[in-house]
Amino acid sequence: MRLRRRLVRNLVFPAIEAAQRRPTLEMLREADRTQWWSHDALLGLQVRELDRLLTHCWNHNRFHRERLEAAGLEPGRLRAVEDLARLPLLTKDDLRAAGAAIRSTAPPLGAVKKATSGSTGDAFTFEYNAESRHWRDVTRIRAYEWAGCPVGARSLHYWGQRVVTSTWKQRWKSTIDHAIRREHYVDSMARGDDDLARAVDTIRHVAPDVIVTFPQSGADLARFIVRKGIGRDWGRIPVICGGERVFAPDRAVLDEVFGPVFETYGGRETMLIGAECEAHDGLHVAMENIIAEIVVRLPDGRVRPAAPGEAGEVVVTDLHNFFMPFIRYLNGDRAVQREVERCSCGRSLHRIGPVDGRVAETLRDGRGNRVGGLVFEFLFREMIDVARQIQVVQARDTSVILKLVLNEKGTELSPPKQAIVQSVFDRYLPGVSFRIQIVDDIPLTAGGKRHLVKSEMV
Ligand SMILES: [Zn+2]
Repeated sequence: MRLRRRLVRNLVFPAIEAAQRRPTLEMLREADRTQWWSHDALLGLQVRELDRLLTHCWNHNRFHRERLEAAGLEPGRLRAVEDLARLPLLTKDDLRAAGAAIRSTAPPLGAVKKATSGSTGDAFTFEYNAESRHWRDVTRIRAYEWAGCPVGARSLHYWGQRVVTSTWKQRWKSTIDHAIRREHYVDSMARGDDDLARAVDTIRHVAPDVIVTFPQSGADLARFIVRKGIGRDWGRIPVICGGERVFAPDRAVLDEVFGPVFETYGGRETMLIGAECEAHDGLHVAMENIIAEIVVRLPDGRVRPAAPGEAGEVVVTDLHNFFMPFIRYLNGDRAVQREVERCSCGRSLHRIGPVDGRVAETLRDGRGNRVGGLVFEFLFREMIDVARQIQVVQARDTSVILKLVLNEKGTELSPPKQAIVQSVFDRYLPGVSFRIQIVDDIPLTAGGKRHLVKSEMV
């Protein structure tokens, strides 16, 4: 097993990356080195990368040029990362209102187009250039390595899947890709006893080196194993959690049934922001790619950095997205700031956490089986071209209302899109009646959040 893993890491993976002319491997080697740098050295690296980004914006990005000028922040004069605080915070609404001006007009141009997650039921599309993409790969691979899961390790992804059947070509490509990478995928959204029993069979069959999961999905599976008294004839399997906040009881049961839990935190706009190391003491920020500020907005409109131990809003700057820069972007999450100090693992990459990220509630199908609310995030991705916001509310009698705010007012959902919604309910929520309600707006809760999924069932 070890040999095969080494083969993939040292031969197959480099060959794939080289064939696609991707510099991931060299970047990974560099990131393996910089993670041991002192905090000051890492800040120095951030200043250099930030200056490069701001210079590009100054020359080729109308939206950010105006903001830089208004803040009196001329590239080339950056002294410290803190100078960034002279720029105003950037919200999703700012980005939407800016239209085409937020895209840079000179290379590197956009290489990947994505939609933000529907976790707040409120999304938009964005793009990034190739270099940014490589950084996303590198920081993810490194974080997985911290969890003892190098490239080539056999992984079981207890995750979600696209709700629309992709073309045979896409399926074929991803099947080959997963096989080479030795990734096995199991849909974690349907969580009836039969589904959970099948997932246990897959774990036995695959014997994964690592499990990657949404914490609530994984914890449901672990609790099922405890409840049914299923023999755990596997060794300790590290569990990498992502996509949702990890609650202490979920962590405890995952640790008991499988192995140590490694929380990761990110967002679709930037991908990985922070990840837990083997010391399990906060999340190390991927400082080479991301500046993560934790800020407190005061009633008079001023913004100050959160003190160590204090919770605030997460503000991210992606150092390598030159095409559609996210600079001081409020991603909608809250996190606790931590003291600047070296972790017991030896790394000085700054730590944050706990993170108060998204939580998707669990729904029930017609037989009372648990169904992950995140399935509607996967649905929302198929709706992004027509809908701006989505919310799913399950009433006590199990009936569901799917609220949608469409991009074009006064229109209805097209029959093909209705068919997609129908297929999700058929597959994941059998026995549940639902109706689609087109609304003008979905109001925020008192806490200023918009929930993707709400359940009124006990
Ligand atoms: Zn550490």
